[in-house]
Amino acid sequence: MRAFDYARPSTLVEAFELLSAPDGGVKALAGGTDLLVGLRNGAIRPRAVVDLKHIRELAPVIRADKECMSIGANAVLAQLTASEGLRRDYPALVESAAVVGSVQIRHRATLAGNLCNASPAADTVPALLAYGADVVIRGPSGERRVSVDNFVLGPRETVLTAGEIVTTIVLPTPKPGTGAAFARLTRRRGVDLAILSVCCLVDPEGEVRFGLGAVGPRPFLVRDSAAAVVSSTAAEQFAALVAKASPITDVRASHDYRQAMITVLARRTLAAAIERSSWVSP
Ligand SMILES: Cc1cc2nc3c(=O)[nH]c(=O)nc-3n(C[C@H](O)[C@H](O)[C@H](O)COP(=O)(O)OP(=O)(O)OC[C@H]3O[C@@H](n4cnc5c(N)ncnc54)[C@H](O)[C@@H]3O)c2cc1C
Repeated sequence: MRAFDYARPSTLVEAFELLSAPDGGVKALAGGTDLLVGLRNGAIRPRAVVDLKHIRELAPVIRADKECMSIGANAVLAQLTASEGLRRDYPALVESAAVVGSVQIRHRATLAGNLCNASPAADTVPALLAYGADVVIRGPSGERRVSVDNFVLGPRETVLTAGEIVTTIVLPTPKPGTGAAFARLTRRRGVDLAILSVCCLVDPEGEVRFGLGAVGPRPFLVRDSAAAVVSSTAAEQFAALVAKASPITDVRASHDYRQAMITVLARRTLAAAIERSSWVSP
């Protein structure tokens, strides 16, 4: 591993300054479960690393407000799986967090890191898309808020600019009677990255949203506001999912296998989401 400087700021303002270095060779560090892999194998060669874990404003807090749930940037995935509020109102997000890595990884890895790493196969992102989550970003020029759908641009690429930090992920409160479910396909049980992951959300009026991972350069969202997917035209809606996908062939699976399995996982998650919702077939 190449040598680098290490800084441990305690305020956001200090972190903005460190991360805004004009040479761009400074990386933020949260749990380090992605970053350290990159540092070790030489894929990432920063001049300095800025540890975010001791910044007060990024406290690992999961807080229910009147119309949303806010998850602080330093909240780790094990906190999500243990949260009563998330298990009750966002079960598919909890299901996605529960399959990331191992117990050790989930006690170290943050939700914000899973999103900021911008892997096409990041497991929590399809659920964040389906629940309509937003990302709160702060930087030297102030605060802005973008949807998760607009946050990830492509593999390892987000809208974050120099000095910017994700501070909170905000999930709107689902309508009463909403059901959602997550499923992923891996080569083996246990620690493995997804061949394909799907989160389906069905609201009480029959509107359906699918978040899909590992079948395109970034996780993406497909919506059906006409309630068609839960009616007899479901086949066409699944075709829309497949049409938006552009899976690659890699060590985990072939393009054709991934493409074929989209419909299988979409049907399974749709059935589970309907079961959990109060939507009734007309
Ligand atoms: C053995 C192993 C198994 C794994 N299995 C899975 C799996 O099954 N599914 C899966 O999805 N992932 C998996 N991962 C990947 C990893 O655990 C997740 O992506 C994790 O959530 C990253 O979070 P972190 O806090 O460790 O981020 P870090 O590694 O600290 O950072 C990741 C990236 O995000 C940036 N970053 C972090 N926080 C912020 C912030 N607040 N603002 C701006 N930028 C930020 C960093 O600069 C870096 O570029 C695995 C990793 C390992 C090592």
